[in-house]
Amino acid sequence: MQQIDTVRDRHYEVVVVGGGAAGLSGALVLARARRRVLVVDAGHPRNAPAEGVHAYLTREGIAPADLVEAGRAEVRGFGGAIVEGAASRLERGDGVFTVTLEDGTAVSADRLLVATGLVDRLPPVPGLAERFGRDVLHCPYCHGWEVRDEPIAVLATSPMAVHQALLWRQWSQTVTVLRHTAPVFGSDDAERLAARGITVIDGEVAALQIEDDRLVGVALADGATVACRALGVAPVFTATAAVLDGLGLASAELRRDGHLIGTYVEADATGATSVPGVWVAGNVASPMAQVIGAAESGVRAGGAINADLVEAETARAVRARRQALTL
Ligand SMILES: Cc1cc2nc3c(=O)[nH]c(=O)nc-3n(C[C@H](O)[C@H](O)[C@H](O)COP(=O)(O)OP(=O)(O)OC[C@H]3O[C@@H](n4cnc5c(N)ncnc54)[C@H](O)[C@@H]3O)c2cc1C
Repeated sequence: MQQIDTVRDRHYEVVVVGGGAAGLSGALVLARARRRVLVVDAGHPRNAPAEGVHAYLTREGIAPADLVEAGRAEVRGFGGAIVEGAASRLERGDGVFTVTLEDGTAVSADRLLVATGLVDRLPPVPGLAERFGRDVLHCPYCHGWEVRDEPIAVLATSPMAVHQALLWRQWSQTVTVLRHTAPVFGSDDAERLAARGITVIDGEVAALQIEDDRLVGVALADGATVACRALGVAPVFTATAAVLDGLGLASAELRRDGHLIGTYVEADATGATSVPGVWVAGNVASPMAQVIGAAESGVRAGGAINADLVEAETARAVRARRQALTL
């Protein structure tokens, strides 16, 4: 892995913080636009626990680590630099940004692209985190096909579980809602679930039942058990945005019907934030984006950053030309 050890290595036109699908796609566009670009990546993409990436056209089933590795190779192929490590602080100085890494190394940049993703905050049920991405699943579009026709339970932590259960029903006829900590569903929702053959079971889930490294069911606090091969969950999608504190960029809440879905950093359609010179892409800005959407937003931000640099360079050239003409 590349080291930052020369003075030349200390300034970049663009530093990309976070090298998942979004950051690497932005870096690829910028490197191909002949920009001096550095990617700083902590190396923990959100989908790391999953065995494969699905619904990414032409890359069906590729291991998440292989996708990142291939992306890094493409960025390097056009002269982009990549260092492994976490950025701990971003600061804005006089026309230049400083990126400080956890090991104390600092680099400067004219523009920043932050693509640090999000963290899935799971309900506090013992054993849930260990199975996340394997048979504890947040997204039917990512995992539904792989568990089709299996008995699927949905761990309800809010009224949104009704929507989730109705979705999972598209992949299996055996869907059970475990009401867990969700309020009692209204009569309309209860009717909708019943009409689709979805059973609702009251009582909190106390533990997961695992056999031969596979989920086989859940145990409720009263001792009852419910068989299932997959457990749908609704994490709170929490933007990895602490690194933006130094720039004064806070994350906003994403709510649906008053219920907290997650947090994200606000930006315009190109990913430009309210801080001039700072763009965001991928899950940090858009919690629902899948891999291909995250990649696309990185491409868009990369193009916008290059265009912004072109404008700044042109303005400087115009000033210099006018000065030369007045001499
Ligand atoms: C279990 C699971 C399975 C999934 N399966 C699919 C699927 O099959 N298909 C699909 O399309 N989507 C899937 N997704 C969604 C997918 O993970 C996201 O869409 C995608 O990872 C978003 O890309 P990103 O680049 O925004 O973030 P990430 O891929 O999470 O990349 C962010 C990168 O930034 C790094 N980082 C964070 N903070 C810092 C810092 N301070 N300094 C430096 N680096 C930092 C992280 O370590 C990471 O490498 C799945 C998600 C989960 C949780």
